[in-house]
Amino acid sequence: MKEFKHFINGQYVSSASGKTFDNRSPVDNSLIGTIHEAGREEVDAAVQAAKAALKGPWSKLTQVERTQLLNKVAERINARFDEFLEAECLDTGKPRSMAAQIDIPRGAANFKAFTETVANLPTEGFRMDTPDGKGAMNFGHRTPKGVIAVIAPWNLPLLLMTWKVGPALACGNTVVVKPSEETPMTTTLLGEVMNECGVPPGVFNVVHGFGPDSAGEFLTTHPDVNAITFTGETRTGEAIMKAAAVGLRNISLECGGKNPALVFADCDLEKAVEGTMRSAFVNCGQVCLGTERVYVERPIFAQFVARMKEEVAKLKLGRPEDSEANFGPLVSLEHRAKVKYYYDLAVEEGATVEIGGGIPDMGEALNAGAWIEPTIWTGLADDARVIREEIFGPCCHIRPFDDEEEVIALANDTDYGLAAAIWTENTSRAIRVAEHMEAGIVWVNSWFLRDLRTSFGGAKQSGIGREGGIHGMEFYTEMKNICIKL
Ligand code: NAD
Repeated sequence: MKEFKHFINGQYVSSASGKTFDNRSPVDNSLIGTIHEAGREEVDAAVQAAKAALKGPWSKLTQVERTQLLNKVAERINARFDEFLEAECLDTGKPRSMAAQIDIPRGAANFKAFTETVANLPTEGFRMDTPDGKGAMNFGHRTPKGVIAVIAPWNLPLLLMTWKVGPALACGNTVVVKPSEETPMTTTLLGEVMNECGVPPGVFNVVHGFGPDSAGEFLTTHPDVNAITFTGETRTGEAIMKAAAVGLRNISLECGGKNPALVFADCDLEKAVEGTMRSAFVNCGQVCLGTERVYVERPIFAQFVARMKEEVAKLKLGRPEDSEANFGPLVSLEHRAKVKYYYDLAVEEGATVEIGGGIPDMGEALNAGAWIEPTIWTGLADDARVIREEIFGPCCHIRPFDDEEEVIALANDTDYGLAAAIWTENTSRAIRVAEHMEAGIVWVNSWFLRDLRTSFGGAKQSGIGREGGIHGMEFYTEMKNICIKL
């Protein structure tokens, strides 16, 4: 049994109220530990520690020293790789093979990638004429924004949290992180790493709890938080935007998606099947960029559906440590209830269930866990709720189309605009269609291929702002123009 405390000013602390809640395994619903729930008192202590740290030794570090420190953090995460891996798999139930390849290494890399961006970030300079003929020089200068609140989701806990903490610290800010109530472990462990590496107290703080009337709300409404970066559901993003309006604090929102895949008859079919299998089912479908709507050109529709069914039938459900397993449970029983609701709704709305659709029998040891079958539907109307609402589970609907114009309209017919995947061997078509996608990220013949220097974010209700490379720098720094009269 583990106990997860807040990490404030370099120390692990309990909640003054004594309030805790359970952390349960999604694999079998067993109790992993208890999590302390922060009240206003702990959130305030964390924010004040972060505010004070902005004026302490952290602010005196040169950029090179800060880079060295953050590189050390990345190296230390890698040195404690197995502990992070164990923690992430306990919390999420995801296969170890996946977390070992994606969650932990990318989580560590986020501390290195952004120090390079900051080191190479140019600022503008303009010389201007003045009436006396002597002129003036202007140059841009960036300073840290201040105390950044980081609100993280549960699907890729370490990776998505460090994707924000990495650039925030690289730019010289301090942070207060509120990890998801479902997945507190790796964020808590990161506190130890920060201390081991000599990151000054107060630079990285963690408070645990829920959203409304709990740590999330207390943090986002705290007047000494200078900016809020959030990843999670669109509705939560709206609540956070309202909170940020008081005091005009800046926000960065990475929200939900209902992402399409467009599969043209001139694609490499096996590549398209392999890619769509990953985009629909990896991480048990709990990836914001995941594909829930698949549009396939009519001549290859039947063959594509048949191949997808064959591949889904091969998915092996099992415990994280089962090296044969490539498919874990959903994150919680609560989330499973939501996904199962949509599975039932699909049938009510007239879907043909091509495969899956239910809760699998995992045997006595695992049946209490949050298991669900990977599922494919066909035959739904374009206005079905299952087509329009984000499910965030291992499922997709496949629909035929007849021409390019039609599929562009279908793909864009959504409130969301996070990602799209296009499968075609015709480069002109790929570019033409990609340019028409109302989405922040478009992949051609690939999915989840990320160069950290490129922009990441959503259009429409999928978010506000862009992360990645220099794009996040607008959020994490305050731009100042310095004008010098010559
Ligand atoms: P969620 O919105 O329920 O929770 C996210 C975080 O917000 C949690 O830490 C939660 O405690 C906190 N929170 C909830 N209500 C709050 C409030 N009123 N004030 C402050 N904090 C609050 O999301 P989730 O269920 O953890 O994650 C799944 C969602 O995240 C999906 O919609 C998915 O698409 C989205 N997501 C988006 C991206 C992206 O980059 N666009 C990446 C991953 C996940």
